[in-house]
Amino acid sequence: MSEPADSADVIVVGAGMAGLTAARELKQAGVSTLIVDKGRAPGGRMATRTINGARFDHGAQHFSARSAEFRSKAAELQDAGVVRSWYEADSRTTPGLRREPRLVGVGGMRRIPEHLADGLDVRMSITIDRLHWDGSEIIALAGNTPIARGSAIILTLPVPQLINLLGASDTQPSTATRDHLGAVSYNPSFAVMATLDAPGGLQDGHLAGPTQDVAWIADNQHKGTSELPAVTIHSTADYAAAHLDADRDQWTDHLANQVAPILEGRIIDAVGHRWMYAEPRTTFDSGAIALDSAPRTVLAGEVFAGAKVEGAFLSGLAAAGAVLEMQ
Ligand SMILES: Cc1cc2nc3c(=O)[nH]c(=O)nc-3n(C[C@H](O)[C@H](O)[C@H](O)COP(=O)(O)OP(=O)(O)OC[C@H]3O[C@@H](n4cnc5c(N)ncnc54)[C@H](O)[C@@H]3O)c2cc1C
Repeated sequence: MSEPADSADVIVVGAGMAGLTAARELKQAGVSTLIVDKGRAPGGRMATRTINGARFDHGAQHFSARSAEFRSKAAELQDAGVVRSWYEADSRTTPGLRREPRLVGVGGMRRIPEHLADGLDVRMSITIDRLHWDGSEIIALAGNTPIARGSAIILTLPVPQLINLLGASDTQPSTATRDHLGAVSYNPSFAVMATLDAPGGLQDGHLAGPTQDVAWIADNQHKGTSELPAVTIHSTADYAAAHLDADRDQWTDHLANQVAPILEGRIIDAVGHRWMYAEPRTTFDSGAIALDSAPRTVLAGEVFAGAKVEGAFLSGLAAAGAVLEMQ
């Protein structure tokens, strides 16, 4: 095996909310990190995409902050001009919901991870598919190419991808860990990014459950993500699960056609995106866990701290804490 390209105190796999939060915490504690992600831009499921000038949030649409830690982080991001309140959710708009602001990234949800990534060493478009533990060193590889080495590693991949990565690595997780992780499954979701010829006209810029197969419509122009009229249509989990192997054009057209009569503007373009791991059906409250079969290896991500953007943040904090305790 040739020498890996770069080293840091801690390798972080995944530049989503969990990985970036962990890396920032570690940086504050004087610990260097090297973050590697297979995507083209940081953010993972906090994703924003531009299509012919229209901008779409097509993963997480907004988030809430309930814990003291995340409320404080959200306030800091609001002060920095990175986050703002989109609308106030209450039981009138969402039955059963307590009154709380729905927060969004200014100019798109991806603005938040981009801000968090600033000043960190983040390498994009690299898929880590094997880990090798060599004495006090951990090496993350893409194929046979060593990418990063460190004395600890934080893994923030969605659990099925995490299981694949661990399965292809030197040290296999114990049966207990495999069973623990194997219990996690996710709801899929389709997102259709629809450009309109005029504003969408949705009251408050969003609409929940308008048709049998559509869970949510978000107006990106109303949110301030897009200057051009543009909505994101999220399918229900049931519809996505039933059509996972169907042709993308088929479900894109189906979801766009269902929503067209509800919108004031006419849909002039629609692009579909499939999320395999939109929402975990099982979550843990451990924050992060140390792998029992390999040294200084911490598993993190939304699933370990109650899901959603807030869970990912809290898990990132817990992962950094776990690594600092190991040092
Ligand atoms: C359609 C949709 C709607 C959502 N709506 C909301 C919402 O309204 N409110 C809310 O709070 N949350 C919402 N969420 C959930 C929220 O986006 C996630 O909980 C959160 O972003 C997860 O962060 P994470 O860091 O744990 O994981 P991720 O964001 O998934 O980050 C993991 C990263 O690991 C990378 N990766 C994976 N495998 C590898 C590999 N082998 N090598 C290198 N990198 C790898 C991925 O590219 C990714 O960037 C939604 C999600 C989706 C998909």
